[in-house]
Amino acid sequence: MSDKQFDFDYICIGGGSGGIASANRASIYGAKVAIIEAKDLGGTCVNVGCVPKKVMWHGAQVAEAINLYSEDYGFDLDVKGFNWAKMVENRQAYIGRIHESYDRVLGNNKVEVIKGFATFVDKNTVEVDGKHYTAKHITIATGGRPTIPNVPGAELGIDSNGFFDIVEQPKRVAIVGAGYIAVEIAGVLSALGTETHLFVRKESPLRSFDPLIVETLVEVMAEEGPTLHTHSTPKEVTKEDDGSITLHLENGQSQNVDTLIWAIGRHPTTDQINLAVTGVETNDAGYIKVDEYQETNIPGIYCVGDIMENGVELTPVAVKAGRQLSERLFNNKPEAKMDYDLIPTVVFSHPPIGTIGLTEPEAIAQYGEKNVKVYQSGFTAMYTAITQHRQPCKMKLICAGENEVVVGLHGIGFAVDEMIQGFSIAMKMGATKADFDSVVAIHPTGSEEFVTMR
Ligand code: FAD
Ligand code: NDP
Repeated sequence: MSDKQFDFDYICIGGGSGGIASANRASIYGAKVAIIEAKDLGGTCVNVGCVPKKVMWHGAQVAEAINLYSEDYGFDLDVKGFNWAKMVENRQAYIGRIHESYDRVLGNNKVEVIKGFATFVDKNTVEVDGKHYTAKHITIATGGRPTIPNVPGAELGIDSNGFFDIVEQPKRVAIVGAGYIAVEIAGVLSALGTETHLFVRKESPLRSFDPLIVETLVEVMAEEGPTLHTHSTPKEVTKEDDGSITLHLENGQSQNVDTLIWAIGRHPTTDQINLAVTGVETNDAGYIKVDEYQETNIPGIYCVGDIMENGVELTPVAVKAGRQLSERLFNNKPEAKMDYDLIPTVVFSHPPIGTIGLTEPEAIAQYGEKNVKVYQSGFTAMYTAITQHRQPCKMKLICAGENEVVVGLHGIGFAVDEMIQGFSIAMKMGATKADFDSVVAIHPTGSEEFVTMR
């Protein structure tokens, strides 16, 4: 397959979710492949994203089991303390094992791993530490980085990367932001016993989610924490004589804390890779424009993952897009491409949220109110039902048209994170409400509600 004109058939810039998946898949089909990574293999997800976050979320679950539920299940516990540093040490050791596994798999697949920061020299050439590497096909999978707001004193705060560097449990934390990261970090810290304040600039966090989900999340936050501050836009941050930090808000209020975390979104890394020499087009925000086959306007240059325009910033999306691209380029599948429709997603909040497809307002906008039927269920999660800390579980199915095709599925509550993957297969296959009703429920579970709603 190799074209002698180039050092490689394929280079992936960025050894994160998308780059690794695409490089491995290409090499399986005999392509000569290199992957270039400036930091640790695994990218955002493994090092400062999904993996360390989920470990800490599990830690928070343990804390909740001990603090909220154990007593009513009959346990008389004497907890001597919580060692944050130990959790972090074990988390990092686990991540170390993931690095080893990436090294092993890439090695077995004969993918050359080039360590260093890549910049383009021309459309087929990249430079790493003064050395040039050429390839017939190049994929940009360099991801994004956290955004810091433009307010005085912003540098006194940390971002989500900094959160994972914390080795000692902070006592009082302010988190600014309203998306996945803000909600997840706030939930983890609060459950682990840190006094946690979540500041959102509008009326609620996760505004793009279905209203039932948002209402329930806010209800549980009011009951269990973190403390939610709405209509709170940051104005300035100051450092106090005792080393603490004060977040000042446009609404005149302020909050003094030990640690301030910005979680207001992420932006692409296109400004760092000398993209101009290639002629690859980006939008005004720096996201790379691609067609439905992940190809940029410059033939031979592709892009997957968080850095692409109109993408969905999730690991499995980057992975699937990267693999499909390699199927197309190196396995003679000219039509292989990523399908960006009906992507299931989970927010690891407290309690977790799972969602697939349209929200109720989106479905009404798309199909018209009279063509949308909504089924809803609410109950107390059985896990919490015998305790003094009863927690709601809410679910919603949104159906469209005469056949009641299920176009939206949403849930919040205990174990919802593990409930929705299978439903995404059904929805991809065009399942109707009648199809959902046709299966026998599994009892007693939470997921049975999704197939028994009336
Ligand atoms: P990345 O994984 O960011 O990889 C890009 C890589 O490129 C990095 O390793 C970077 O060092 C490298 N790089 C950048 N520039 C260069 C260069 N010029 N030369 C060489 N290397 C370079 N998604 C989920 O699905 N589930 C979750 O639970 C989840 N949790 C998250 C939690 C947090 C806190 C964050 C920040 C993100 C989370 N995500 C989650 C999103 C997920 O991490 C990203 O969507 C995913 O990592 C994107 O993959 P990518 O390949 O586009 O980029
Ligand atoms: P998001 O884009 O999800 O949310 C950021 C939110 O912060 C905005 O929607 C906005 O909400 C608010 N915001 C924006 N600017 C400001 C500002 N200047 N001041 C105050 N608030 C502001 O970004 P995240 O960083 O949370 O996450 C990035 C992406 O990573 C996610 O979208 C998701 O795709 C992925 N991710 C996935 C996870 C998972 O799968 N479980 C977990 C973590 C991340 P508003 O307009 O309402 O104020």
